[in-house]
Amino acid sequence: MDLKGAALVTGAARGIGRAVALRLAEDGFDVALNDLEYSKGDLEALSQEISLKFRKTIITLGDVSREADVIRMVDSTVQDLGGLDVMVANAGIVSVVTPFPDTTIEDWDHTLGINARGIFFCYKYAAQQMIKQGRGGRIIGASSVAGKQGYATITPYAASKFAVRGLTQSAAKDLGPYNITVNTYAPGFIDTPMLTALGDGLGGAEAYKAKRIQQTAVRDIGKPEDIASIVSYLVSKESHFITGQSISVNGGIYFD
Ligand code: NAD
Repeated sequence: MDLKGAALVTGAARGIGRAVALRLAEDGFDVALNDLEYSKGDLEALSQEISLKFRKTIITLGDVSREADVIRMVDSTVQDLGGLDVMVANAGIVSVVTPFPDTTIEDWDHTLGINARGIFFCYKYAAQQMIKQGRGGRIIGASSVAGKQGYATITPYAASKFAVRGLTQSAAKDLGPYNITVNTYAPGFIDTPMLTALGDGLGGAEAYKAKRIQQTAVRDIGKPEDIASIVSYLVSKESHFITGQSISVNGGIYFD
């Protein structure tokens, strides 16, 4: 089965999503680029870069926590790129840095709304479309090292990333018979604007990153391209026997 076709990447304007979109285009996919309205300029620059070098792209703005937006994103991908073969539900936010139990219900709802509900919508409408097409597919979501192990001060974030793993394992079981695999990447510390913002909330990004580097076996921080290469493998023909998994890409992280 040749899986080349159309991919939709959410949160594609920067960080991991941007690297994933570029990599999938290099791999031969046409790519629908999603992010929030405020990122339109960044998406246009990325779209131009991809169109000049590699493949066709479209921009589909929208908020993944809104069901109607996700339905529209999938529909425009199908209409403009001829189908949907790969969904990368990457968009996510980090919650407000607050020790539990001072976490607010507003932060809980906001974080779970994007990181869990948003990924649920992306999986659901991608799966419906892929089943309708009848040619299989690949669904990939963003979990985290914090989706495998609790993480102090960002309780809603960790809970949302555990939810993505549960959703992934369960959806994989239902979708396997349709030749659709469902997996997540579980990054450790990857140098993106999100990590910088988290570090700033914890007393300073540079000191935070330096500390995190010391907490990896390889004494390094990951790059967005390190996640993009895993996505590239998960959408390849060779990965057809891998489903329901959450692939750690974390430099051998350990916490004290
Ligand atoms: P980032 O903040 O640098 O980029 C995220 C992108 O998602 C932004 O462009 C943002 O505008 C977009 N976005 C946010 N909310 C959205 C919404 N509701 N709808 C559509 N787009 C939205 O983040 P990143 O570091 O590139 O992380 C990407 C994913 O990987 C996230 O799900 C994150 O939780 C996960 N992750 C990142 C790290 C890391 O160290 N950077 C570690 C573990 C997991």
